[in-house]
Amino acid sequence: MPVEQLVRRNRGRYQDLRSILDLSFDQFIATAEDPEHRAGAEKIWRAIDAAGDIYKKHYEGLYCVGCEQFYDEAELDDGRCPEHGTVPDRVEEQNYFFRLSRYAEQLDELIASDRYRVIPESRKNEVLSFIRQGLRDFSISRSQERAKGWGIRVPDDPSQVMYVWFDALANYITALGYADDAEKYRHYWFENPHRTHAIGKGVIRFHAIFWPAMLLSAGVPLPETLFVHGYITIGGSKVSKSVGNVIDPLELVEQYGAEAVRYYLLRAVSATGDHNFTYEGFEARYTADLANDLGNLLNRTVSMIHRYREGVIPAPDDSSPLENGLRDVAEHVPGKLTAALDRYDPQAGLSAVWELVIAANKYVEEAAPWKLAAETKKGDDAADIRLSSVLHALAEAVRIIGALLEPFIPATSEKIFDQLGVPSDGTNWATRYRWGGLVIAGTEVRKANPIFPRLESPRDAASA
Ligand SMILES: [Zn+2]
Repeated sequence: MPVEQLVRRNRGRYQDLRSILDLSFDQFIATAEDPEHRAGAEKIWRAIDAAGDIYKKHYEGLYCVGCEQFYDEAELDDGRCPEHGTVPDRVEEQNYFFRLSRYAEQLDELIASDRYRVIPESRKNEVLSFIRQGLRDFSISRSQERAKGWGIRVPDDPSQVMYVWFDALANYITALGYADDAEKYRHYWFENPHRTHAIGKGVIRFHAIFWPAMLLSAGVPLPETLFVHGYITIGGSKVSKSVGNVIDPLELVEQYGAEAVRYYLLRAVSATGDHNFTYEGFEARYTADLANDLGNLLNRTVSMIHRYREGVIPAPDDSSPLENGLRDVAEHVPGKLTAALDRYDPQAGLSAVWELVIAANKYVEEAAPWKLAAETKKGDDAADIRLSSVLHALAEAVRIIGALLEPFIPATSEKIFDQLGVPSDGTNWATRYRWGGLVIAGTEVRKANPIFPRLESPRDAASA
């Protein structure tokens, strides 16, 4: 297949994920064909060249095309690429080199002192030990021939194409308009102290070593933080076509819905370690957390407001102290969630949200609105006032849960708001997470289908 055709096909697959996974992002660029990127990649090359960090040299080495990376014999597993399990090509040619060795000490200092913060700590140590083994200059171009005409030409030498990582890394600034020092570049990069990259562990060397060294050379500010996530494994191995253990995420979405897949990836998967995927584990989470804990809670809340208050959220009796426990949890969760996200730990963030989900379910059992309704029928007015307070408290807890879930599972959040009659736009951010922050008494609730229907034929965990 011609390179261009292959690239177009794969690009389309990534682009399609936007709607499939209900993602939102500001920009999607195809670096090889983006004129702004091309101009930016040339600019950074020239800046690095002007700093005296580019020279030409004859080179011979082992190259993995899958990684687009040279390997030393010692880094291979039985002569094979540790990432791809394939035998690398022996490559010999005249290339341009980047003087990485010049930046070893500076990089060590920046990373060790957390001025360039690598998260988690284990990855930081991995990078430091790699730097301390000594950094060698690396090849940053290919012959036009070996690149098969694909890629960005080296400025002033059309016989050579830039090494794919050398131009690709630059996308972080070229996409912002680094080439002509655009306002966006100044705002989001040059003058912004919070520059964060999120990457998979397989490309850590490029982001923790090559990229900051390139920036130091070009006189461009470095990122502040590099967050490194792990891999999802299946049967303990990296998901790979050649191993044959692929689970197609698109099929997963088709079967369980994008919200369930998003929830699973953010809740069950540790942000920094590897995670072994099983269908049984996935379904267990789906059933316990989504169908039972969250789905039931919403369903019960809306149903009881219908049954006992004709579908209108009642006003609470302010003198009742019984809601304080639930309110207390609701008031602590937003802080915990924020702290977790500040640590790049969505798993802990969702666990915090579930503290409120669990507390609200427990509260239903303890407050037992059905008993209050029965006592009301017998003429107990105090029970009737209590019932209003309980239903109001439940609606308020569920509303806050909906708001807290928005960054993780936005479509679910919207459904929760819809059922509770909370307007999804024009929400006051200052009061969004606050108990009693949004007056919802008098609002009409809407009954709807379960947000996470039960699985019709769940897989048996025991047979896994
Ligand atoms: Zn490889």
